[in-house]
Amino acid sequence: TASRPTDADLLARRARLLGPAYRTFYDTPFHPVRGDGVWLYDADNRPFLDAYNNVASVGHCHPQVVQALTRQAATLNTHTRYLHAGVLDYAERLLARLPRELGHAMFTCTGSEANDLALRIARAHTGASGLIVTRFAYHGVTAPLAEASPSLGKSIQIGASVRTVPAPDLHPQEPARVGRQFADGVRAAIADLQAHGLRPAALLVDTVFSSDGICTDPAGFLQEAVQAIRAEGGVFIADEVQPGFGRTGDALWGFARHGVVPDIVTLGKPMGNGHPVAGLAVRPEVMAAFGRECRYFNTFGGNPVSMAVAHAVLDVIEGEGLQANAQAVGQYLRHQLRQLAQRHAVIGDVRGAGLFIGVDLVADRAQRTPDPALTARVVNGLRQRQVLLSATGEHASALKIRPPLVFSRGHADQLVDALDAVLSELPPG
Ligand code: PMP
Repeated sequence: TASRPTDADLLARRARLLGPAYRTFYDTPFHPVRGDGVWLYDADNRPFLDAYNNVASVGHCHPQVVQALTRQAATLNTHTRYLHAGVLDYAERLLARLPRELGHAMFTCTGSEANDLALRIARAHTGASGLIVTRFAYHGVTAPLAEASPSLGKSIQIGASVRTVPAPDLHPQEPARVGRQFADGVRAAIADLQAHGLRPAALLVDTVFSSDGICTDPAGFLQEAVQAIRAEGGVFIADEVQPGFGRTGDALWGFARHGVVPDIVTLGKPMGNGHPVAGLAVRPEVMAAFGRECRYFNTFGGNPVSMAVAHAVLDVIEGEGLQANAQAVGQYLRHQLRQLAQRHAVIGDVRGAGLFIGVDLVADRAQRTPDPALTARVVNGLRQRQVLLSATGEHASALKIRPPLVFSRGHADQLVDALDAVLSELPPG
């Protein structure tokens, strides 16, 4: 048999061919060759429990999604300037699952394009340029979004019309004040824009604040900030690329737990279970100015294959009750993690909604001292024990747990047992 390339070979080729900007996860990079449900397999057929990939949200290689994709690919795929019912059927179905106020859907291939388009729509509608994001946000790869993605690192130049605000307090003394504090930040950012002769076009937030460390509670805390941006003529863009399509368990969308209706909702990652399909939904009155000023054409966005895939993903989410599963298993997993915290003082906090969970690892629980080095050791230790997850937050000191929504209680037990074992092996600190 032909010899397999070693991982070292692949790493060397990556560096040579793809250049220096790419990164891999883990001290020992992971090299899966096959996926099935919540499992990824390496070339030796060893199973790895996937507690990280929210893209394959209905499970890796779900047969219903694969079949929809291959069937449509074998029938027709074209650019999006011909008539095709698939995009309309999906738009109808998607809009029916969003608040009534959101009357139009537009399609892209990536979450970045969706956010970029949302920003252009917001700027056309308001005639303003200011953009407000959280202090450790990530919103995408285009130039205007990289300039609004401080999580890319200290060397990222924040745009002249971008202002960052502190993320909602992850560990509030008084939960009732989270919304006020967050809105105070937004009001200060608006004032600073105005002091520089700018007006705010939009407040753009990931509604679970996934790269800021995961902040979901108390439900409702976003309301005051949304009022604050609208009071100054700006719009509220809910970035649902991470939480959307049922992950938060209580609703299909992360913004719903806050009782707000966004002006624009952007969608991505789980929408196609790995196939690149993304998009946005928007209030018609917010869309109108952009529609007058511009035409929109996206070669691949909303093509027949992408729409068939997106349809199949919704079929599976609804047919298999995955939102309810996210709710039930997420609650169970948080409970088990809190039990584990009773035996491991390094677990500083467990939070989240549905199957979007953050676990702070701390050097001192009372002081909540972040421990990024420990977090990196735990993430790598879990990888050695064939459990995949990652870290998030300003200090990369919270475990980010975000498995496919087909995660069961049994899988949750396996994850917690592996974490218990890794934490138990830590040298006394
Ligand atoms: N918004 C958020 C909140 C994201 O996490 C990401 C991707 N990590 C994006 C937007 C960009 O999506 P994409 O990578 O599909 O362009």
